[in-house]
Amino acid sequence: MAHKALRAITRKEQGSANFEIKIAWITAHLGAEGNELVDKAAKEVVERMSDSFDLLPLYLAKCRSSLPARLSALKQVHNTKLRWMWRKKWKASPRYVQYAKTFKDSCFHKESRGVTRGVIRNQLSLLIQLHTGHAPLNRHLHHIGKFKTEICNSCKDRIKSMEHYLLECRAYKDDRHKMVSGLEGDDKACMRTLFSKHNGIKALLQCVEDTKRLQKTFSDVSPHNLIKMDDELENAGTGKCDYNWPQDGNEEQVG
Ligand SMILES: [Zn+2]
Repeated sequence: MAHKALRAITRKEQGSANFEIKIAWITAHLGAEGNELVDKAAKEVVERMSDSFDLLPLYLAKCRSSLPARLSALKQVHNTKLRWMWRKKWKASPRYVQYAKTFKDSCFHKESRGVTRGVIRNQLSLLIQLHTGHAPLNRHLHHIGKFKTEICNSCKDRIKSMEHYLLECRAYKDDRHKMVSGLEGDDKACMRTLFSKHNGIKALLQCVEDTKRLQKTFSDVSPHNLIKMDDELENAGTGKCDYNWPQDGNEEQVG
């Protein structure tokens, strides 16, 4: 095409006195004011294509169905679709049943994360490992082959599970008494409170700290940071915590 144009120009200008052709590479349209404005306008239209058809010129608005959609809108639709597919697959998984059973009515439920506000990493690790039965107590250590027996060293006739450690073991009787003194209900209700209420979490962390049983793994888990945070919130007049705990019988999604 370039050769054809060159020949045509040469033929036309052959008789001119100062005719000269100089060939050089240039960046197409760079710096041409009108071209820059068109480029800018075209980009703006494409960017908001999915929600501003009214701003398009009439001849473009007529063919809106063939115009490309906004990139961010496409990403949003794609991500929503992926989330929907993931949720559907996750809920069909056999692991979901156990997961929902374990975390329902706990501070780890996605609707109740406000309860763990202010909890730091080692405290949260402790809470999760206790709640899932993966804390380094005899039962779990024996299960993974790291300890010879699952029987409690102090009680001798009971398996040292999380429930035994927190609610039964006579080695921690005084620490447990201090923990449950501010909580209501029987052992089952007490256990639920320990993992689902802000005050329960504070009492639980203090008890674990007092027993020193898991200090080697989690170091200092005393809830001084939570107590300080609550005091500051109370002093600021904003209330202690904006709990968002679902009512009994109110089924919430877990995921
Ligand atoms: Zn015991």
